[in-house]
Amino acid sequence: MEKQVLEWGIETNEKGHRANSYLYCAETDCPECGYKLPLSPSWIIGKGTKTIAVLKDNGKDGFDIEIQSGVSDEALKRADEMATVRDGNTWCPQCKKSVPITVLRKDRKGDNGEMLSGLRPWGKTEFLPRPDDVFRERLYCVRYEYEEQYLASNGEWKSKTIRYYQTPTPQDMVREKKVEQLLAGRFVDWQNKGFIPNTEIETGLETARLTRERGWRYWHQLFNPRQLLVHGLFINKALSLNPSRQEVILILLGINKLSNWNTKLSRWNSDAA
Ligand SMILES: [Zn+2]
Repeated sequence: MEKQVLEWGIETNEKGHRANSYLYCAETDCPECGYKLPLSPSWIIGKGTKTIAVLKDNGKDGFDIEIQSGVSDEALKRADEMATVRDGNTWCPQCKKSVPITVLRKDRKGDNGEMLSGLRPWGKTEFLPRPDDVFRERLYCVRYEYEEQYLASNGEWKSKTIRYYQTPTPQDMVREKKVEQLLAGRFVDWQNKGFIPNTEIETGLETARLTRERGWRYWHQLFNPRQLLVHGLFINKALSLNPSRQEVILILLGINKLSNWNTKLSRWNSDAA
């Protein structure tokens, strides 16, 4: 699996550094001014590394997102105050107006008193939002790491892991596209083989929210293309090794762990970053 990911080059940048985290946010159109509005309850990425995302007006229709590390305490505080999701409302730095998210989704009551929304329900083979959907997904930060050799005080060479955050470069975006294409070429086959989820979300109190609040109707839609590609590849490679019954159990435990940690609903923990 590792070999395949390296061969595809989907996690390695031009310097040979390996990405170990990709941060995505939802993006919507501000109903008040029409600007494309990235959504997050805080723009602090790492409290330890003092890393923040700064929204900068692109002068035409939305915001560039600039990643800065090692910033001052005031900048850190400002990044928190620039939250674009606050108590169930959006807040737009361009027009300074707030809109309830329920209004964005066009929430309403159905005939039987059930809550419905106006979001487009995603189809079975869809794994990406459409450009005209209320909520799109945007990659806004990548964390890379590499090993650095250094001469220790006792005269021995040692190595330490250096991690850094950066604004996605054009090459990062090319790699995102490549991931989407690689997945698209395997999607139906992998769904049929069960390497990636293929079932509809049954309606329950909690699960109904996924459709109402996100438009997701199938379990695989809880994952973005990069997550689906890596999960599918993991199962595909593992099963191709003719595993024993016991090994299959380990594979399933592995994939369960991946799925719990690595979904679009997982929240980034800035305390530990
Ligand atoms: Zn606005």
